[in-house]
Amino acid sequence: MTQARRWFAPVFVAALFALVTLPASSPASAATVETSGDAVSMPDAASITFALRVQAAGGLREAVLNYRVLGPAGNVGGSVRPEVHTTPTQELRATLATNDGQRFIPVGSTFVYTWALTDADGEVHTTEERTFVFLDGRYQWQAMTEDLVTVYWYHSDSSARDVLLGSIAAVRLNEDLLRTTLTYPVAVVLYRNSGDAAGAQNGRGGTYDEETITGGARVATALVHIYHPLGSYAEVARHEIGHIMTKVAGVGAFPTMPSWLDEGVAVYSQADPGAGYRSGVDQAIRANDTFRLRSLQGPVNESSLVNKFYGLSWATVDFLIETYGRESFADMFALLKSGESIDVALTRTYGFDQDGLYNEWRESVGLARLEFAALATPIPQAEATRAPLGIPTSSAGGAASDGTASTPAPVDGAPVATAEGSSNTMTAVIIGVVTLLLAGGLGGVGLKMMRRKA
Ligand SMILES: [Zn+2]
Repeated sequence: MTQARRWFAPVFVAALFALVTLPASSPASAATVETSGDAVSMPDAASITFALRVQAAGGLREAVLNYRVLGPAGNVGGSVRPEVHTTPTQELRATLATNDGQRFIPVGSTFVYTWALTDADGEVHTTEERTFVFLDGRYQWQAMTEDLVTVYWYHSDSSARDVLLGSIAAVRLNEDLLRTTLTYPVAVVLYRNSGDAAGAQNGRGGTYDEETITGGARVATALVHIYHPLGSYAEVARHEIGHIMTKVAGVGAFPTMPSWLDEGVAVYSQADPGAGYRSGVDQAIRANDTFRLRSLQGPVNESSLVNKFYGLSWATVDFLIETYGRESFADMFALLKSGESIDVALTRTYGFDQDGLYNEWRESVGLARLEFAALATPIPQAEATRAPLGIPTSSAGGAASDGTASTPAPVDGAPVATAEGSSNTMTAVIIGVVTLLLAGGLGGVGLKMMRRKA
């Protein structure tokens, strides 16, 4: 790893805020309405308040704060309508809940907004567009940027550098591995720990699942959160950037990527899969208790299975790449991106489908090949040879009937030691998924979290 030539001069994000909080005395349009004090406050991870001072003879009939959240996959937006008055001077305040169960706009999102003010004569005056980055006001954020990656951080300069370098490494690895190019900026929001991140995680408003710790999540197409170091912040970053890159390389019009592939690439993006995943694989092989790949289309939602699920996903991806090379792996991703199913993409590239791959891998680790009935349509989900209970089967059936093109947004955590373990065993725990977000966009749909049942 080379040291960066120029160190990412930390930019105080406060300076960025100043752009929007400067008392700008800008006439909205006609002389009848004047505005000043255009400001944005972000007290925490869950809300943003837009403020504006308005002078208008006769007051206002209506005020609308219109916002857009920028994203490479398209912008989403909405509006907030604060109370208005007929007094000639008034202070408008429009508060947007960003994580209230109905809407999830993650910290780190870039906003563009304007105010549309309707005066007493019915004329609409629109303020100039302003842009800002939504950052959790409980902390003093700084930013460092290199290439297309920006890390927002507040507690440790060296951790932030590690995360930045790890993120860039994961981008480059996957650009090569998946034969793709990241063309848009990616942001990484680095919290110190889950406690600091309270309110920032989707669906984590009130109760917290005490059996899991979430290391990080890909919360939007180009945005990653890190909530907890688990093994190391940089490894969480590499893993989540891996998820960003599989979307760059593999997403067609509909989600076609099974969990084993998405997570396998994400773990492969880490500097090392770590002891937990390795032991998950080893134990499964020793006990001849492996998952049939076809049963790993959706997220594993059981903390006791996390290491096994991630380990086997990683082992399968590692086997494909190490045995057949990166070129073929990239070919397969290209087919996925063109909209082919995973079985078609595999068969055209390697000559075997998921069951065939599963058997090739089993053979490579000394396990016997298994007989699978020829596939009928629809693909039988329940015939996993040894799939344990609690593994949700494919969401393909449901996804097909869901008209919206939603992408799973992975949330990666690790099981907290439960029965015999002490909290110190966390050091041995690697990034793992316990819960998964079933996606929506940033906007109205919101992301739904599958919670582990206690
Ligand atoms: Zn993941």
